[in-house]
Amino acid sequence: MTTALIVGGGLAGLAAASALARRGVRVTVLESRPRLGGRAGSFPDAATGLLLDACQHVSMGCCINLAHFARTVGIDHHLEPQPVLYFMTPDRRVSRFAADPWPAPFHLGRALLGAHYLTPVEKLRIAYGLVMLRQTSPDIDPPLRPWLDRHRQTARTLDRFWGVVLTSALNETVDRVGLKYARKVFVDGFMTHRDGFTVEVPRVPLGRLYGAELRDFFTRHGVEVRENAGVKDLLADGPRVAGVSLRDGSTLAADEVVLAVPFDRVRGLLPGAWADLPCFAAAGRLTPSPITSVHMWYDRAVTPLPHVVFVDCLSQWLFNRGETSPGEFYVQVVVSAARPLKGLGRDEVEKRVAAELARLFPVGAKLLRSKVVTEHTATFSAVPGVDDHRPAQATPVENLTLAGDWTRTGWPATMEGAVRSGYLAAEVILRRRGDATACVQPELGGRPRAA
Ligand SMILES: Cc1cc2nc3c(=O)[nH]c(=O)nc-3n(C[C@H](O)[C@H](O)[C@H](O)COP(=O)(O)OP(=O)(O)OC[C@H]3O[C@@H](n4cnc5c(N)ncnc54)[C@H](O)[C@@H]3O)c2cc1C
Repeated sequence: MTTALIVGGGLAGLAAASALARRGVRVTVLESRPRLGGRAGSFPDAATGLLLDACQHVSMGCCINLAHFARTVGIDHHLEPQPVLYFMTPDRRVSRFAADPWPAPFHLGRALLGAHYLTPVEKLRIAYGLVMLRQTSPDIDPPLRPWLDRHRQTARTLDRFWGVVLTSALNETVDRVGLKYARKVFVDGFMTHRDGFTVEVPRVPLGRLYGAELRDFFTRHGVEVRENAGVKDLLADGPRVAGVSLRDGSTLAADEVVLAVPFDRVRGLLPGAWADLPCFAAAGRLTPSPITSVHMWYDRAVTPLPHVVFVDCLSQWLFNRGETSPGEFYVQVVVSAARPLKGLGRDEVEKRVAAELARLFPVGAKLLRSKVVTEHTATFSAVPGVDDHRPAQATPVENLTLAGDWTRTGWPATMEGAVRSGYLAAEVILRRRGDATACVQPELGGRPRAA
């Protein structure tokens, strides 16, 4: 039986493990932290012991590989589709964004027309921009901003439409992203299939989502999961990788190794001669982008809405988790591409977000406590031409495969991208064994897969 060591228990590693184990590979997952899920993870709240997500994660209907992974391991029932998105402006007006029962892209036409924060002319400009964006090649990746300027977008449509969607989807600002992934967000999410835009929010913390059922699945499929098992380096055997040495001094051998760690960790684990191979060196040219989440507990509900997308505010998304412990109502505010917050300090960030929420939801709620978490290397930045620095999963080292949201997946850094990378890595290994099984799922609407 082929054996595989998977270094990294984030979604990429977990997806690779699930795909390989289902096809008869004996898998061991090595995760340095005491928990699975990687960046999509939780930590215990010091005050209550309850699990808190470092940052709320959401997916969309177009994330078909993530959905497949969730179904496969039996956690899909924890994901709650949001039939309506609520957009709020500083004047506290709210627009509901919901699909009509019409084929894409017309299903969202009425929702766009109903957006109170855009004038009729701005809506026309946006519709024109979307039509033109769809007509561009999915493979070119010039800077988005000049393209938007050339296609009649104004500062207001950038701030109130393009930026609102792209900053949270790509964790990067309109000024810095490339056309390729901006196009992907709008075409896959909003224009191709009527289910593509449906946002799904886990009903449970991520630590629970990637928890009991996943472990049961792994047990049933003979996957050994070792937490607190940090890998120190990979062991070379000529042109092959023989196994890994762990930080506790032990070594493990296997037929195949999947390196599923973040992009800034890869080269440090490789033997010197391999670290400079172009595919690994390229990872060093990816740039990170931060995300800040502000966890706040109030003495009463600040809003009855399940979530809010803010337009023209410091806060970008609010997730309302309700009364999570007696007398404590928990909301989380997320700020993507959080570079402007750098240097402000946690207290100042909390103060600004709390003041904004007090203005937006004047219900007299008292802030009981809060916690500000910034992930400085949340995702790689989807700058123009970023794919030039994203290696494929197969590497020149014959039995070493890469996985991770940063590898070449055709997707931005998302849970979908991570799962897709894990499935692609599994396909590489299965092909070496003469098994041509496709693990990556067909696109929504049955289009051929892109990678
Ligand atoms: C704040 C934040 C918010 C986000 N929001 C969203 C969202 O709403 N929707 C969405 O789709 N995506 C979101 N993302 C992106 C998403 O979390 C990532 O794209 C995805 O989780 C990446 O998975 P991965 O397996 O590629 O990497 P990781 O999750 O980083 O997993 C890598 C794993 O490798 C482990 N590791 C590292 N070094 C070693 C070693 N030496 N030995 C053993 N193990 C090691 C790490 O501990 C980690 O568990 C967000 C990310 C962040 C940070």
